[in-house]
Amino acid sequence: MRGVVIHAPKDLRIEDVAVAAPSPHEVRVRIEAGGICGSDLHYYHHGGFGTVRIKEPMALGHEIAGVIAEVGGEVSHLAPGMRVAVNPSRPCNACRYCREGRRNQCLNMHFMGSAMRFPHAQGGFRQSITVDADQAVPIAESVSMAEAAMAEPLAVCLHAARQAGSLLGKRVLVTGCGPIGALSVLVARQAGAAEVVVTDVAAAPLAVAQRLGATRAVNVAEERDALASYAADKGTFDVLFEASGNEAALRGALDAIRPGGVIVQLGLGGDMALPMNVLVTKELQLRGTFRFDSEFQLAVEMMGKGVIDVKPLLTATLPLENAVEAFELASDRSRAMKVQLAF
Ligand code: ZN
Repeated sequence: MRGVVIHAPKDLRIEDVAVAAPSPHEVRVRIEAGGICGSDLHYYHHGGFGTVRIKEPMALGHEIAGVIAEVGGEVSHLAPGMRVAVNPSRPCNACRYCREGRRNQCLNMHFMGSAMRFPHAQGGFRQSITVDADQAVPIAESVSMAEAAMAEPLAVCLHAARQAGSLLGKRVLVTGCGPIGALSVLVARQAGAAEVVVTDVAAAPLAVAQRLGATRAVNVAEERDALASYAADKGTFDVLFEASGNEAALRGALDAIRPGGVIVQLGLGGDMALPMNVLVTKELQLRGTFRFDSEFQLAVEMMGKGVIDVKPLLTATLPLENAVEAFELASDRSRAMKVQLAF
C-alpha cells in the first residue's frame, strides 16, 4: 500500500506503508479522498509547528474518507463496501477527561498524522488504513467522498460554535478565511447568525466566503480601516471566531467586539501580546477551542441531511502520485482553498 510520508521539511515521499489486518474491534478502510490541512502544510514546509517537530518519518493526513474493505470478527454494524468518513481521533475512553465527556482533551489521545507524541501517530494519507470500528462513520448516499473527507474540519468548526453558545440573531465576525474560517461562516449562518462579516488579506478566499453566505467580506490588506465603523459605541459584534492565528487579526478585531462579547480562538498562533485592559474593561470572554468530539458524527449527519454544503470549499483534487504538487498548490492561497488527494 502506498502512502504520503514526510521525512523532513520539503522531503515528502510516496512510499510503501504498513497496513495491519483488523483486530476484532477494528475495520480496514480503503481510502478514496484525503484533504490537506494547515497542519499538514506546517509539517511539509517547516517540519512541524511550535514545539512539535517530526522526529521520524510520518504519514501525513487526518481528513479522510473511504470504503470499508475488511471488518474484525466482533464488528457487526459495519460491512465491507460501506462508505465512511474516518474520524482521525482515537481517545482512550478511560482517562479522567474521557470519563468527563471531554474526549478531545484525552490524556492518551491517538490523533492521526500528529507528531505531538513519540512514536508519532501515523496519518491517513495512504491507500488503506486500519482503525477502531468507532472511527468509521457511515455516510449518506448523497454525500461524496470529497465531502466526507471534510467532516473533520467541519467538526472543528461545530465544536468552536459550541464554545460560543447560541448564535441565533447574533452579529458574528470571522477573522481569517482559510478552510476553517470559511467553514465557520457556513456554521454561523446555519446556526442563525443575523450577520457574518469575514476578514482576510487575500481576495480569493474572501470570494469563496461570500458564496458560502458571508454578509460582508473585507480585505484588510486593502481596506485597513474597514473594521473601524464597527467600533462605534464600544463595538458591534457579539462573537468573534478568530481563525487566522495571527496576532494582528485578533488585536485589530478587539475594538469591534461589543462589551460582554465572546472571542473563540481557533487559530493556533503561538505567543501573542494582547491589550488586556480592553479584555478586562469590556468584559470580553476569550475562549479556546481544540479539535472536536461528538461533533464529528454531527458533521456527517448535517452533510447527509443537506443542512450544510461544503462543496464550494473544494478547489482541486490531485492523484496520490502528485502529492508534492498538491501540497504546493494547497500552500498558495491565491489559487487554493481546500486541496484533496485521490487515492
Ligand atoms: Zn482519554
